[in-house]
Amino acid sequence: MLPFKLVYSDAYYLPIGSHVFPAEKYRLVRNRLISTAVAEPADFLEPQPATDQDILLVHKPEYVQKLKAGRLSPREEMEMEIPYSRDLVEAFWLAAGGSILAARHALREKVCVSVGGGFHHAFPDHGEGFCMIHDVAVAIRRVQRDEKISTAMTVDCDVHQGNGTAAIFAGARTESVPLPSVSGATLNPTRPPRMRGAHAGEVFTISLHQHNNYPLYKPPSSIDVDLPDGIGDADYLAWLDNALSSGLRQFEPDLICYIAGADPYREDQLGGLDLTVAGLKSRDELVFRVAKARNIPVMVTYAGGYAQNVEDTVTIHSNTVVAAKEVFS
Ligand SMILES: [Zn+2]
Repeated sequence: MLPFKLVYSDAYYLPIGSHVFPAEKYRLVRNRLISTAVAEPADFLEPQPATDQDILLVHKPEYVQKLKAGRLSPREEMEMEIPYSRDLVEAFWLAAGGSILAARHALREKVCVSVGGGFHHAFPDHGEGFCMIHDVAVAIRRVQRDEKISTAMTVDCDVHQGNGTAAIFAGARTESVPLPSVSGATLNPTRPPRMRGAHAGEVFTISLHQHNNYPLYKPPSSIDVDLPDGIGDADYLAWLDNALSSGLRQFEPDLICYIAGADPYREDQLGGLDLTVAGLKSRDELVFRVAKARNIPVMVTYAGGYAQNVEDTVTIHSNTVVAAKEVFS
């Protein structure tokens, strides 16, 4: 048995047909974790869908109404980049319920992984970039409402900037503060990564992402690390380490929400960074070690992953559980 829980349902599958988003990856990750004896069936919890009331903690009533009634405009559906259906609405309500369950178990057992979720491009009033509902934001707002936490920090390592997260939690931001520089000597000096720093209100948002990639407009997170194209493991890990240290100097979260995108991988079809499978596992270990050292519970969601070979995406996501097992055992 794992010393923590995994959250998973077969109904995490997104009914979007043939699509660059490999919606079967959740089931493949579950099967891989069991076939490699990393986990056993009893480690998995089956989530319930979020309630409409939970969804409304983040999303606008008009948007929720449109989703439930199937009244998105063609433009709204196009922006979401996945085909609307009632079944898809149910899959996103379930993803949000899974993230709520993962947050609750993380608070109990120090870590919990939802084998799904991480839909960080969803905004209060619209969906974007394969994301209809911001499951992580819903989970944060729900456990805040239940008074289980007051503060949270999102650590978004998907290759794409967490624009929905930044917009949702933009509330109480103060002036940008300069961040300490790190040894960026090995980075391309003509295009150094930029880190913007700002205090957030009760939710502090960190995003490490490729600058030259979707979304074109990146609303400011508390810390954005805008990485140049093609950076590899060592530089990425140095910037992540720096962003975590800087964030945790400025802010004390009751919960870390780690968005463990598999798309910084060098063979990703929608990413332009150069991380290896081993580098991505080191990334997961770094987040877990920092959280454990400071005794901050961490919940994990998966976000994107579009490797040429879907088995690589499955390996990267499975390794996140392996890394948690190694750090928290
Ligand atoms: Zn992504």
